[in-house]
Amino acid sequence: MHKVYAVYGASGCGRSLMPVAKMTVMRTDSTADLVFIDDGLDQPATVNGYLAMNYQDFIALGGEKAVLIAIANSKVRETITNKLTADGIALWSVQADTTLIMDAVIVGNGAALSPFVTIGANVRIGKCFHANLYSYVEHDCVIGDYVTFAPRVSCNGNIHIHDHAYIGAGAVIKQGTPDQPLIIGKGAVVGMGAVVTKSVPAGAVVVGNPARPMMR
Ligand code: UDP
Repeated sequence: MHKVYAVYGASGCGRSLMPVAKMTVMRTDSTADLVFIDDGLDQPATVNGYLAMNYQDFIALGGEKAVLIAIANSKVRETITNKLTADGIALWSVQADTTLIMDAVIVGNGAALSPFVTIGANVRIGKCFHANLYSYVEHDCVIGDYVTFAPRVSCNGNIHIHDHAYIGAGAVIKQGTPDQPLIIGKGAVVGMGAVVTKSVPAGAVVVGNPARPMMR
């Protein structure tokens, strides 16, 4: 059956990831169609040269479908994942030609690995991970579902990052040890440029060098 791949979201995140999606299609299945889905569209349109349509119109298309959710908000990614699953549509992972993945790495479905991302050896990553430009994940890290890295995140070895955490641009996270990994808790937010030297509790927002809970 004819294959149709889609990038869900045609705003900043989606438009940045479409070229990565295109690279992926060219490497793996160059005859497939590639479109945007965006629910902000009442009717089909063209975005950066690609056909774009809302989810209802996408569902109405024929063919075998797979979707990359290219929306930075991790809760939205989870909601859309559940919708796709209910509709029997597969999550699609994309990676740039310059992405480097080392040995014994497991990456869940729906990943977006942008240009110059590196994933070190023996790393495990859950579903719908976003690693933006120049980010790296070093050896033995364990990353949950719906985790988001802005550009140039330095995630060193033996770090565990739980579901829905968000790591801001240029943040540096100190390595843990096999016995005592550094932990970024569920839903935690690490601010842009933060230097994280110790574990961050679930739901906390930390900023600065060394990173501390943000005063509200
Ligand atoms: N969007 C959508 N369906 C949803 C939620 C969001 O199509 O259920 C679209 C929304 O219309 C927008 C994009 O996803 O075009 C999100 O864009 P935004 O600028 O908020 O974030 P980013 O591109 O940085 O993730």
